[in-house]
Amino acid sequence: MEETLQALKQQAAELIKGADALPKLQEARVKYLGKKGELTALLKGLGKLAAEERPRMGALVNTVRQELEAMIEDVQSKLEAEVLAAKLSTEKIDITLPGRAARQGHVHPLTAVNEMIEAFFMKMGYTVAEGPEIESDHFNFECLNLPADHPARDMQDSFYITENILLRTHTSPVQARTLQSQEPNSPVRMIAPGKVYRWDYDATHSPVFHQVEGLVVDKGITFSDLKGTLELFLRHIFGEETKVRFRTSFFPFTEPSAEVDISCCMCHGEGCRVCSHTGWLEILGCGMVHPEVLRINGYDPNEVQGFAFGMGVERIAMLLYGIGDLRLFYEDDVRFLKQF
Ligand SMILES: [Zn+2]
Repeated sequence: MEETLQALKQQAAELIKGADALPKLQEARVKYLGKKGELTALLKGLGKLAAEERPRMGALVNTVRQELEAMIEDVQSKLEAEVLAAKLSTEKIDITLPGRAARQGHVHPLTAVNEMIEAFFMKMGYTVAEGPEIESDHFNFECLNLPADHPARDMQDSFYITENILLRTHTSPVQARTLQSQEPNSPVRMIAPGKVYRWDYDATHSPVFHQVEGLVVDKGITFSDLKGTLELFLRHIFGEETKVRFRTSFFPFTEPSAEVDISCCMCHGEGCRVCSHTGWLEILGCGMVHPEVLRINGYDPNEVQGFAFGMGVERIAMLLYGIGDLRLFYEDDVRFLKQF
């Protein structure tokens, strides 16, 4: 039996060392060490030996088994290293190829203009206030001196939700809400940016658009404060050379009221298609806060005065960037948006 073992060991060693690929090595392992392998068979045959022979032969078979296992392990790691080396030499990564850069977005042009407006007024000491977009008739109209039968309500075609609840038609209700939240006659200096809603849809009107409202209330506020503030603001946005003019107008919540024009930023006052050859562009509405508005909201017009203004963010963005159709702002077309 000892001779059989030695012969078997020699055959196995040759097969293992001669294995030039991992599958062949696996074959050798199964052939000798597997469940039905030759060495395993030898181990099972020990029972047939004489009792005094068994321990010595058992130990011998086990030693051979361990030797073969160690040999297999050796050859296996050598073969695996070869496989890896072959892979590394064939699967080269070209690290000199430029990477694919992630496309970076930026703020929407309307957001950019809104931020410009906010930044300017915050530097002037204004706070930024917000109000609900679903508003009551009370705050949207009545608190702004627009009682139920007021004809000026027709100027603003509204989306009503119930008889008394509507989508706000302007950011002006934030004026009323701000005044009512203050100690009566205490000073106010705020802007209120936000979405507003009107029944309108064409190249210059959208059912949802953005306004920025401004309100200043304090002792001794005059029209010249309003003029100076808006001139400074409009030159900041449209350039130092911009001319600003005030035309008398009517709003129910201001008295006196004015429309503000700037010299056309496309033709610099020469006259072009954008300004209908007048050289001027209508840009915002403003006025001194109507005494009745102060009174309705708990302030005493004999103690304090104020001015208010309101502007459309889309209108300013269209003029600033030379955009002809307001609907482009809402179509989310990347070809349009990435130009800004
Ligand atoms: Zn023009």
